[in-house]
Amino acid sequence: MQANQTENLLTAFAHYFPNSKEMGSFVDGELVAGKGEQIQLFDPATGEKSMSYADGGAAIVALASEVAQRAQKEWWALTHAARGRVMFAIAREIRAEIEPLARLESIAAGKPIRDCRGEVAKVAEMFEYYGGWADKFYGEVIPVPTSHLNYTRREPMGTVLQITPWNAPMNTCGWQIAPAIAMGNAVLLKPSELTPFTSLVVGLLIERAGAPKGLVSVLSGYGHTVAQAAIADKAVKKVVFVGSPATGVRIAEAAAKRTLPCVLELGGKSANIVFEDADLRLAALGAQAAIFAAAGQSCVAGSRLLVHRPIHDKFVKMVSDGARKIKVGAPLDDATEVGPINNKTQYEHVVKMIQNGVDAGATLSAGTLERSKAGYFVSPTVLSNVTNDMDVARTEIFGPVVAAIPFDTEEEAIAIANDSEFGLAGAVWTQNVARAHRVAAQVNAGTFWINGYKSINVASPFGGYGRSGYGRSSGVEALYEYTQTKSVWVETAMNPVTPFGYVDN
Ligand code: NAD
Repeated sequence: MQANQTENLLTAFAHYFPNSKEMGSFVDGELVAGKGEQIQLFDPATGEKSMSYADGGAAIVALASEVAQRAQKEWWALTHAARGRVMFAIAREIRAEIEPLARLESIAAGKPIRDCRGEVAKVAEMFEYYGGWADKFYGEVIPVPTSHLNYTRREPMGTVLQITPWNAPMNTCGWQIAPAIAMGNAVLLKPSELTPFTSLVVGLLIERAGAPKGLVSVLSGYGHTVAQAAIADKAVKKVVFVGSPATGVRIAEAAAKRTLPCVLELGGKSANIVFEDADLRLAALGAQAAIFAAAGQSCVAGSRLLVHRPIHDKFVKMVSDGARKIKVGAPLDDATEVGPINNKTQYEHVVKMIQNGVDAGATLSAGTLERSKAGYFVSPTVLSNVTNDMDVARTEIFGPVVAAIPFDTEEEAIAIANDSEFGLAGAVWTQNVARAHRVAAQVNAGTFWINGYKSINVASPFGGYGRSGYGRSSGVEALYEYTQTKSVWVETAMNPVTPFGYVDN
């Protein structure tokens, strides 16, 4: 199994870089091997060693930063429409690769192949969406009360650094690269050291589609080496981070030393609230999708299930029965709905948190305390009789584990939902329209669903409240993050007076 899986990963990757002997970073049109510490990767489906590669270190950052500055000038010198056309070409390149890219992602990240196909298509959509914006986002003329023509220009930041996690490597990379380059920036992307492969291929396809060499570099290696060297690099003008809150704080601290603006897309502990008047069949399916899809390794996962007491036992049983029917299996199997946890550290955390919940008095309504015999598999788990002060209700587990908490009134449901340091997402299930909107307005979350869960689109803004981060990705709002505003004043008076000091001219 190990030999096959290793071979698959290498073969799937070598398909894109047939002439490269060593895995590395994608810089200036080439795969450049690092010289740092060896990073050992493991197959999530077996737990066995798969491959290793050398950390890119500060040297790769210096190289990428230099070529990015050159490429960004070239890119910004194009017309806005021309940049848009290249972005449509990138989308075509990605669409043509759905199957091999999905396979590569599935093997490397342990994600079910059917999820990966959908994610690759979504990435193509992101380049189309922002390709359309390339010549439609511009400044304004401001009606100032003087003889001036005052207008604004939306200018690129220059080179931006993007740091992404392992749970949706391809998705997060397309999500951030597309708006950044649409607005004329160059990108240094630092994917998770555990899952750099599909991001490297996206870098290659961007160049193949006609973007200048070096416009997007993908830097392979650790956060404390590569990402920190990039934050310190003078060419970097903004940092966009997707990952855990603890790392987000470290990144924001390092960025603050250089007065670099940041966007932080962090974790969550989202409340999925079910009232007694909901369509319980749909709500139960929604509750399963909310937490078990992607093996719960999703920032918006509905990991706290708040259930109205009159239906609590019945509803927990419905979700638990559903959880037991979910097909857990090998990532490349078309029938698999839930694959393994991505890595051992995360697997150990998830297993520990399930035990922690049981030790604190929660009931294991679905799932097991037994460990996976091979690989990092965790069965869909329902912990019931949870109270909101337990660790399992407060800590981001980032696995297929839901904590069911009963509530008596609407006010109590909202209070429990908001009793969390996070504020990424949430949902309510009810057939009472007024109640649905009341709850949506009062829960502290950047994204909220009514009678649904997990609908996300590149056109709609996304981001967190509280410890889930700040700044917004997706939609028009991402374009503000990737541009800076210049206000230009043009004197138009016949006999202008140059003001001295603060005068009302
Ligand atoms: P992580 O914070 O461990 O790593 C994320 C990235 O940061 C990786 O590229 C890593 O190499 C880098 N990094 C690690 N230490 C660093 C340091 N000291 N300096 C600079 N960079 C460093 O996160 P993870 O475990 O890869 O991902 C899971 C987390 O991501 C979860 O908390 C999840 O909720 C969050 N997430 C959030 C969103 C969102 O949009 N809000 C989306 C996906 C994942």
